[in-house]
Amino acid sequence: MHITIYRGTKEIGGTLIEVKTDTTRILIDAGYPLFLNNAPIDDNIAKLPHTELLALGVLPKIERLYAWDDAGFDAVVISHAHIDHYGLLKYVNSAIPVHMSAGTERLIQISQRFRICDSFGSEVRRFRMYRSFRIGDIELKPYLMDHSAFDAAAFEINTEGKTVIYSGDFRGHGRKSVCLDRFIAAAKKRPDVLLIEGSMLGRIDEQTMTEGGLEDAVVERMQRVNCPLLFQCSSQNIDRLVSFYRASLRLKRMFVVDIYTANVLHELRQLKNNLPYPSPEYPNIKVFFPYRLTQRIFDDIGEEYARRFAEYHISRERIKEVQNHIIMTCRPSMRIDIQKCGVHDGVFLYSLWRGYRDEAYQQTFEKSLAKAGFSLEALHTSGHATIADIKRVINGLDPQKLIPIHTMHPDAFGDFSDRTERKHDGVAFEV
Ligand SMILES: [Zn+2]
Ligand SMILES: [Zn+2]
Repeated sequence: MHITIYRGTKEIGGTLIEVKTDTTRILIDAGYPLFLNNAPIDDNIAKLPHTELLALGVLPKIERLYAWDDAGFDAVVISHAHIDHYGLLKYVNSAIPVHMSAGTERLIQISQRFRICDSFGSEVRRFRMYRSFRIGDIELKPYLMDHSAFDAAAFEINTEGKTVIYSGDFRGHGRKSVCLDRFIAAAKKRPDVLLIEGSMLGRIDEQTMTEGGLEDAVVERMQRVNCPLLFQCSSQNIDRLVSFYRASLRLKRMFVVDIYTANVLHELRQLKNNLPYPSPEYPNIKVFFPYRLTQRIFDDIGEEYARRFAEYHISRERIKEVQNHIIMTCRPSMRIDIQKCGVHDGVFLYSLWRGYRDEAYQQTFEKSLAKAGFSLEALHTSGHATIADIKRVINGLDPQKLIPIHTMHPDAFGDFSDRTERKHDGVAFEV
């Protein structure tokens, strides 16, 4: 088989990997880049026409993949619901089917429904974790991974008597760390190639807390104070929401989620799992309706996405009354709502990658919280593997060849294995 990494040999995000045999051609991940010319990509770039995106390299030159070309791929396979792995789907020729897990599909649907990402025309086919499926003469076996995206997969790819393993994005310090153990135990040993992510390389001075440790830190911070706790994380980072939810139980506080987060939890809970969501089963979860978002839901998104939580609604007035007994989600777009709730002199925990914190919109939000007497603090842990876990995967699988991907520091892998081979974006190699 031939493999071409169109993007990812020397950067984090925007992953696209082609696997091609004599009869079958698939693309694994169709990621929108996080960087352009080594700087974080500007939000406005996404609005440019596709001709300009091609010229800039945001859309790599790939024959017979895109909507304006004929369809020369048998399928696209998506590892998980992060934009840097699926954000280019809307440009893919809609005659090409897209394979993904049920959780990934739900998260992408929610993002489309709430206009966070554009829709795409391809037919979606679902795969199940640990069940092999075939596309032409390529067999793929997905493994559930521990990552900050829900229902994320790694793939074992078998064809022509060879095996390639793609780790996707993963970690071993989240709430599903057992998935990493299971992957290392069950995936094929001595694969011909291991494509492995290394997002954390170069950040070695960062100490890595587990999600359980983060939950403990929330409890520790709040157990002896009597004030509101607001926190900001990605509403699709389910592990993180669960960490704060569990802390709310331990602290005997009400867990207040905004209506968007409520929808994420509600939709994912339909997939038969034990996620907390607004329902009689979880009486300490209440739903806050931010003014502008609620208007948008009624005008544009669909009123059932608001009405389904009417029973669990908590008003601004009620939040004001019980403010010292809440843990509440927030984000910059809720700045005025938070002001109108009259919460004050509390703790704000920023629980996202620190790189986003300097943005003007975020700064305005935090200044308004500071003005209301909030203590601004950070509490976060990465969605990506530590060096120890990267080594654990390499030692456990013992690949014949290791190819770094999704990393700014591919050379650092040389320290972990003398079978490391660096590749270049857009250059095919044979396995
Ligand atoms: Zn990624
Ligand atoms: Zn990811």
